[in-house]
Amino acid sequence: MTGFKEFAQACRTIEDIPGSLDMTEKVAQLLQDVNCDELPVVTHFIMGEVFPAWSTEDLGIGTSLLYAALSKAAGISLKDIESLIRDTGDIGKTATEALNNKSKGQAQTTFSSFIEDTQELSILEVFERFKNISKVSGKGSQTTKIKNLQYLFNSSSPDEAGYIARLAIEDLRIGVGEGIVRDAIAKAFDVPIPYVERAFMLTNDMGLVAVTARRGGVEEVTKLNIELKRPIKMMLAQVTPTIEDAIKEMEIAAIEWKFDGARVQIHKDGDNITLFSRKLEDVTRSLPDIVSAVKEHVTAESAILDGEAFAVDESGRPRAFQEILKRFRRKYDVETTAREIPLTLRLFDLVYLNGENLLDKPLTERRAALVGCVENSGPVKVDEQTLTDDVEEVNRIYNEALEAGHEGIMIKNPQSPYSPGKRGKNWLKKKPLMETLDLVVIGAEWGYGRRTNFMGSFNLACHDPDTGRFLQMGKVGTGINDEQLAELTETFSKLIVIESGMEIELKPEVVFEIAFEEIQKSTNYDSGFALRFPRLVNVRDDKSPDEADTLKRIEDIYSTQ
Ligand code: AMP
Repeated sequence: MTGFKEFAQACRTIEDIPGSLDMTEKVAQLLQDVNCDELPVVTHFIMGEVFPAWSTEDLGIGTSLLYAALSKAAGISLKDIESLIRDTGDIGKTATEALNNKSKGQAQTTFSSFIEDTQELSILEVFERFKNISKVSGKGSQTTKIKNLQYLFNSSSPDEAGYIARLAIEDLRIGVGEGIVRDAIAKAFDVPIPYVERAFMLTNDMGLVAVTARRGGVEEVTKLNIELKRPIKMMLAQVTPTIEDAIKEMEIAAIEWKFDGARVQIHKDGDNITLFSRKLEDVTRSLPDIVSAVKEHVTAESAILDGEAFAVDESGRPRAFQEILKRFRRKYDVETTAREIPLTLRLFDLVYLNGENLLDKPLTERRAALVGCVENSGPVKVDEQTLTDDVEEVNRIYNEALEAGHEGIMIKNPQSPYSPGKRGKNWLKKKPLMETLDLVVIGAEWGYGRRTNFMGSFNLACHDPDTGRFLQMGKVGTGINDEQLAELTETFSKLIVIESGMEIELKPEVVFEIAFEEIQKSTNYDSGFALRFPRLVNVRDDKSPDEADTLKRIEDIYSTQ
């Protein structure tokens, strides 16, 4: 049995390692040191997750619940916990400090005295407690969750408590992601990286891959395959600058509309249907209309289908993305929302059929099989596809898609396999170039992991000339390379107004040119809008804050989207 202490120590060491090679080495060591039962748990823990992303098990621990558990465990008030959070800017450090203070002789709760003599906490015990937490629901569940967390905090050292607190909100902040764990599994159990990667693509479960690699090496890892009800990563698309480029590249291309909706991966196992979102969350309960449509119109006994769900208005045009998200996020009163926002499903791929994995078959073959097992009826259809090498024809399809209110087109290589999780040249997307926005940076957040000591994300605002105020529109953290990050941190260090924990308020001086996918309405920001997928394009040194884009322009773009 490995103690949680060992895991916490490994995290502490990894946190301070700057380079990913050394980090991989340390993670590989940890994976080798634990036993087979602990291995899957540690593999998930080290990436900051308790269960695989697709699992229906969910901790459901929000910050307020965590603060409450900490306050009880440390015997200090909630106010004190909140003030520690403001000082440290980090839940892990807060937990460590709170419990440190307590062990220096502060108040002991009766609960903690009760478990004072318990033995050292093991990794599996932490996992079991988290499992208990994920199982409780309904009345009294908050209290049970708090008690379980309190138990964990009181059974661990202040240092361990820090990592338990971070795991509880599944944000370990030690900079270990999928890539490092993949390489570490390869190193620890002597399986070449591409095999580990492929096994992960098919199973989406690093814990399972790690155990299989340890037990059976490359031979067993190769046998890992798709399974119904366990989502595989979705194949992704790259942007093509022009239709001509794409057609030149592929010669004959398969052209489809790029529907304006949300991705769904559908698993059919007889009458049992499971739906996964793009983030591979199980959304079956939220989409009963899709479930019954698939039951009725997909004739295969078992299948994994890929498609896009969207909603249309009375005139047949796609409704705003947020409307669809409302459907995907809805957990209660699902039927009413389903009536208000009925969904349409366009299927474009089939990766598994009646027990056979079709991933390596060419798109044309997968598609023929798809057409063969779907009755185009009601809200379910196989999307139309045109095989062509004629740029004119592709342009025509592109314009039709845009006129219908959809996003553009997909240009796919008809000979290509389905590559889970890959954003490659076999699927290209063409949509109109979005305008960029010039927005003022009014705040920032200190980064963590590799971005410690740098500002990691920046709060953006548009300008309201009427009031002279800058109105928030969200944050940007992508599109910024390390060199730029260092430069920006230096520039902004001189503009700090107030710092509170990780949050920084900045004097509005710098203007960023921001690319984005879409403007959405939002109640989170005082502009009333937020950007979907914002990305830094340029720092507009040539612009002063009052030349930034105005709220009026944002409203105009929003209304024409
Ligand atoms: P993007 O989200 O811009 O990277 O574009 C890729 C997304 O377009 C996919 O994840 C799907 O959700 C969506 N999409 C819409 N229509 C299609 C289609 N015919 N083939 C593949 N993806 C599509």
